[in-house]
Amino acid sequence: MTLPLIECPLRRMALSSPDCAAVKVNDRSVSALQLDAWVEDYRQQLASRLSAGDRLLVILQDKLETVVVMLACLRSGLVYCPVNPVFPESRILDYAANIGASAYVTDNHFNPESIVPVGRPALTARMVAVDSLVVLDRKVIVDLIPTSGTTGVPKAVAHCLDNHLFSARGSAAVIELTQGDGWLLSLPLFHVGGFSIVIRCLMAGACMLIDQQGLPLSRLLNAMPVTHISLVNTQLQQIVQGDHCIDLAGTRLKTILLGGGVASAPLVRTVQEKNIQILTTYGMTEMSSQVCTGVPQFTSEGVTSGEVLPYRRVKIASDGEILVAGESLCLGYYFESQGSSRVVPVVDAEGWFHTGDLGEWVDQQIRVLGRKDNMLISGGENIHPEEIEQALLACEDVALAVVVAVTDAKFGQRPLAFVEMVGGTVNELEIKNFLADKIARFKIPDRILPLPNKLSNELLKELPPEFAGQKLFTGIKPN
Ligand code: ATP
Ligand code: MG
Repeated sequence: MTLPLIECPLRRMALSSPDCAAVKVNDRSVSALQLDAWVEDYRQQLASRLSAGDRLLVILQDKLETVVVMLACLRSGLVYCPVNPVFPESRILDYAANIGASAYVTDNHFNPESIVPVGRPALTARMVAVDSLVVLDRKVIVDLIPTSGTTGVPKAVAHCLDNHLFSARGSAAVIELTQGDGWLLSLPLFHVGGFSIVIRCLMAGACMLIDQQGLPLSRLLNAMPVTHISLVNTQLQQIVQGDHCIDLAGTRLKTILLGGGVASAPLVRTVQEKNIQILTTYGMTEMSSQVCTGVPQFTSEGVTSGEVLPYRRVKIASDGEILVAGESLCLGYYFESQGSSRVVPVVDAEGWFHTGDLGEWVDQQIRVLGRKDNMLISGGENIHPEEIEQALLACEDVALAVVVAVTDAKFGQRPLAFVEMVGGTVNELEIKNFLADKIARFKIPDRILPLPNKLSNELLKELPPEFAGQKLFTGIKPN
């Protein structure tokens, strides 16, 4: 019997150390043997209704069940297609139609007529004997994971098993992870960042840690045996600066992996002062998560996002765009229309994926400047809104920051900042003084205003008269 490679570690654990915890949900431990049995039970349920290659839409809040479904899909050759469960039903249905989903599994009130639900075995399953397992072709589609949709409608990225295996192997070259370690599933499992933690834990025999009580991250770091955690800036800010901030030095943390956007240098420094390892990472859905990871280096303008991991290649084009390739690069974007499917390749004639991000080399590391579409040119100088946003976020009272461009008669474009303060009104002068120590003078926004509900050109009409006749470039999405 040959097992899909990702499954081998779970089965090995189930046989050699059946009582070893594969998952912890708050205080409750799930042994390797139990997880293996649940996966097999679910697989049998799915196999009785669906066939290999069918797309199973997964609309689950429950992370434990999501892990089980994900592994059951891998074991049975079904395509795991997660979506954000809080999306409105109409949006989920559009996505389901685009990928030709055959069935769905959900734990909320989603109940459309166009696709059929599959049964959800209660996770109290008896132990079942495993007799037959599908042998997965490592080049075949195993999942469709949606991109975040920052630049438009999310794309369904098709990955094969090899993408994830090489992604995890390359990651292991930099992030030490062994049996006895615990990685908190602090990112959603419908994004590649969360998905890849599951694969890394399985391959290392480490424990996946799940919170089902909605506790603040800082409480979890004390309450659960968290040695590894993946975070974005705002999550890290909550831990080291927010109302619930804690002393990281008193936790079991070994490694913090910071990614998802331009890293905030002051936040990185705060963690380093506690002697906790913090690694910065640059990645994307198309590359099955991380492209670069490493110990961040500081430049006068920001912080780097690590060295290129094994099995990936990176090139900076003449206009500064980051191009990537390698074994972890996806098969393409998946579309289905009128019963036939297409996987649209994402690479150019030389095999490079154009990320849409701008970057530069700092020694052996990549520093990501920001998205190409967001960059503004002010008086001939390039300004990356992401750098200003991170500088704003370093201010303890700033909870959220969005920087956009507005047209300007003198400079062509100028940055305009919107902020949400932790508990009070925006004091423009104080924030500008704060920024003066952090970024070059010409990058300091002329105005810093409260964050509105919607960023559109309509908004300019509500702003002070100085904005009359100007145009807003959000770089986010036209609305
Ligand atoms: P869409 O492709 O639908 O517009 P998205 O690109 O935000 O959405 P993801 O694949 O989830 O979807 O995110 C990858 C992107 O996140 C990268 O292309 C980059 O813009 C940003 N990103 C990730 N890591 C970093 C980093 N360390 N520094 C700066 N930006 C980062
Ligand atoms: Mg993208």
